[in-house]
Amino acid sequence: MGKLRSFGAPCDKYRRWIFLYLDDQLREPRLCQFKDHLAGCAECRMALADRRRFVLELRAARAGLSPSMDLRARVEEILRMATTFVMLAGIAWIRRLIR
Ligand SMILES: [Zn+2]
Repeated sequence: MGKLRSFGAPCDKYRRWIFLYLDDQLREPRLCQFKDHLAGCAECRMALADRRRFVLELRAARAGLSPSMDLRARVEEILRMATTFVMLAGIAWIRRLIR
């Protein structure tokens, strides 16, 4: 009771935007909303940091290191978690990165 953040989970929406943001696909006014939300939400900042690390790993893999089993498992995990929206926006570049 009395928790300020008891009004549902707007975070869900922003979590879905993380991949778009990392892929430089998030446009105004969503970009501003996203940044505003992150400024006030430590959990989403952590989610962003985690996804960013993941993307950097994918890029490293693409740069010549062969993707480890661990990385593939994480790709599959993320794809499983992803919504259809993110799948549509993100699956092409994820495939590009791991191929
Ligand atoms: Zn949040």
